[in-house]
Amino acid sequence: MAERILVVEDESKIARFLELELKHEGYEVEIAFDGRTGLEKVQEGDIDLIILDLMLPMMSGIEVCRRVRKFSDVPIIMLTAKDDISDKVTGLDSGADDYVTKPFAIEELLARIRVALKRKNQSVKDANKDTLTAGKLVLSKLKHKVTYDDQEIPLSKKEYDLLLFLMENKGVVLSREKLIEKVWGYDFIGDTNVTDVYIRYLRSKIDERFGVKFIRTIRGVGYIFEDYEE
Ligand code: CA
Repeated sequence: MAERILVVEDESKIARFLELELKHEGYEVEIAFDGRTGLEKVQEGDIDLIILDLMLPMMSGIEVCRRVRKFSDVPIIMLTAKDDISDKVTGLDSGADDYVTKPFAIEELLARIRVALKRKNQSVKDANKDTLTAGKLVLSKLKHKVTYDDQEIPLSKKEYDLLLFLMENKGVVLSREKLIEKVWGYDFIGDTNVTDVYIRYLRSKIDERFGVKFIRTIRGVGYIFEDYEE
């Protein structure tokens, strides 16, 4: 059955263009021209992914995102204005999985849609799994142990927690604020730069030690953990 994508975009030219391209790719497409209608369509159910513009009448994309996240973990790709870092961070913190900056190349958006849908299907399978893998990197939750190519990597508790969260969210851009909230906890008092410090620890213990590149910096935004194939 075709996956159903909801496009929430008030610029009808962009909305129609997306509808055409997505249908061409074999997706079913729903369109909402304002935030409130978009939210209603998600509440009606049966949406596999949302492409959500940030600037919308009736209800902003950020608000739609926050409200959707209260009842659904459907993948959300946000459309943001070019180079506006604060929009991206707010979008990711409100629960978006990814963002694409306008103007965007349709190929890039389609690629991100495929990744988000694949990840959604995979995360259902992974939810109960003990072992997370990325190439030769293996994390066993049961054993609380991380190895690369069967060589054990000693990690402190926070390093382990951070790596676990990164691996559970493979392919998703994570802001520093999000990492603080999920790994250090809501009540953490201090600088979000602590994430940079711990990312550095992980890189020296994994990326640098084994000559690999799992953790990528998204400038001004945060980090993304990705599969690395040799
Ligand atoms: Ca708009």
